[in-house]
Amino acid sequence: MDREPLDFYTDPDSGAWEELGFDPYPAGRPPVEVPLATRPPVPALRDLREHYDAIVVGSGAGGGVAAFVLARSGASVLVVERGSWFGARDLAIDHVRNHRFFLGGDLDTPPGHPRAVPGDDGETAVEYDDLRYHHNAITVGGGTRFFGAQAWRFLPDDFRMASLYGVPEGSALADWPITYDDLEPFYDQVEWELGVAGRAHPGEGPRERDYPMAPFPPTTEAALLDAGARTLGWPTGPVPLLLNTEPRGGRAPCIRCGQCIGFACPVDARNGTHSTVLPRAIEMGTDLITSAQAVRISDDGDVEIAAHGAARVVRAERIMLAGGAIETARLLQLSGLGNEWVGDCLQGHTYAVAFGLFDSDVHDGLGPGPSTATRHMPRSQPHPHGHGACGPTRSSRPSRSPSVSWRAARTPSPPSRRGGSRLPRTPSTRCGCGRRP
Ligand SMILES: Cc1cc2nc3c(=O)[nH]c(=O)nc-3n(C[C@H](O)[C@H](O)[C@H](O)COP(=O)(O)OP(=O)(O)OC[C@H]3O[C@@H](n4cnc5c(N)ncnc54)[C@H](O)[C@@H]3O)c2cc1C
Ligand code: SF4
Repeated sequence: MDREPLDFYTDPDSGAWEELGFDPYPAGRPPVEVPLATRPPVPALRDLREHYDAIVVGSGAGGGVAAFVLARSGASVLVVERGSWFGARDLAIDHVRNHRFFLGGDLDTPPGHPRAVPGDDGETAVEYDDLRYHHNAITVGGGTRFFGAQAWRFLPDDFRMASLYGVPEGSALADWPITYDDLEPFYDQVEWELGVAGRAHPGEGPRERDYPMAPFPPTTEAALLDAGARTLGWPTGPVPLLLNTEPRGGRAPCIRCGQCIGFACPVDARNGTHSTVLPRAIEMGTDLITSAQAVRISDDGDVEIAAHGAARVVRAERIMLAGGAIETARLLQLSGLGNEWVGDCLQGHTYAVAFGLFDSDVHDGLGPGPSTATRHMPRSQPHPHGHGACGPTRSSRPSRSPSVSWRAARTPSPPSRRGGSRLPRTPSTRCGCGRRP
């Protein structure tokens, strides 16, 4: 191999994908006539109004939904988003520049938004092509543009962890001030407004109605995992996903490509805020300014916005901060607002991973990836070890990409290089249309 490894594994024409036995479209390539959402026009900083009823900072999961609800209630709304609005075909399927493996960046994050990483010698500023930067997306739709789209509801007990398990010494653990029943109507609304495909699991809280779309059919690995779960007496069911399993809202259903989580959808079947509530909020008169950052806010309604080297203050009755867990806290701190808890107690989620070797191929390569799950987490034990406090789930792993984990899901053999040993191929993973990926 005489090319840089990054170039080699990124380029669909280098032969790397075939060598690894990876096919991005196991169920067939996207039809060329798939209608892809268009981007509405974006106003310039100078064209914004002096005053809005509400300004929403961030256009991700929280901001997109807030803008839609506010616009529907008749409010004048401005959404400020520091990223760009990419079209469905602007973000290539690139296996080293994406939101799961960003050795070369992630294609959407603009430069100039460094993160501080603490270390023994103080803080280091890292940019988006540093593996310590992590997955946060900076684009219209925020994390929902690339997310795995798992749309779990909390279980009723998740709202009362402190009562159930007690408060560990030194911990700030507390019950939620609301219950599952309080939240149920809103779960229902968001599942139907955005679009979730799924089927309720036994043991979950009561629900007003089913999901709006049927779940994905089981994959080869789901059948195997379900059989294993049955021997343990665990009930299983499909993973609820914010993905179209049927045409919806003028957009196509999923074509079950081999790279979902971390990648832009090639047929725009992912129901993020960029493809659902934001376009509707804009239709109702919302202004969305992109490549513009809220740099300071005040508690009497001023929002200072910086864009393309200029800055101006716009006023609002209400300011909604939806810049994500880190950026929202940072903006509050920069603005001298909030209390000593702001920016503290950030909690991520972890993954527990199990690998197994099988005599036959158990992976069919079909997307979207997470195919089956159990919510069987009996809470009778005295300690919640191994149980997530938020929507506990055991589910199968999301989709693979050739450079990250495809090999890990297949027969182990020495690393393959051009001219070296070849990984075995399985006919079921080859492109359905017979063409080169
Ligand atoms: C690869 C990946 C997979 C994921 N999978 C799942 C999943 O399967 N299920 C699930 O529930 N969650 C998943 N998540 C997490 C989920 O996407 C986030 O929890 C969710 O998007 C957070 O919503 P948010 O509104 O708080 O922030 P975000 O969606 O991150 O949106 C914040 C937006 O605000 C913008 N912004 C920040 N600061 C400013 C500022 N000062 N001025 C202007 N704009 C600003 C950012 O550019 C960003 O677009 C995943 C995330 C990623 C990246
Ligand atoms: S698997 Fe995910 S990315 Fe691929 S077509 Fe389906 S929704 Fe889109």
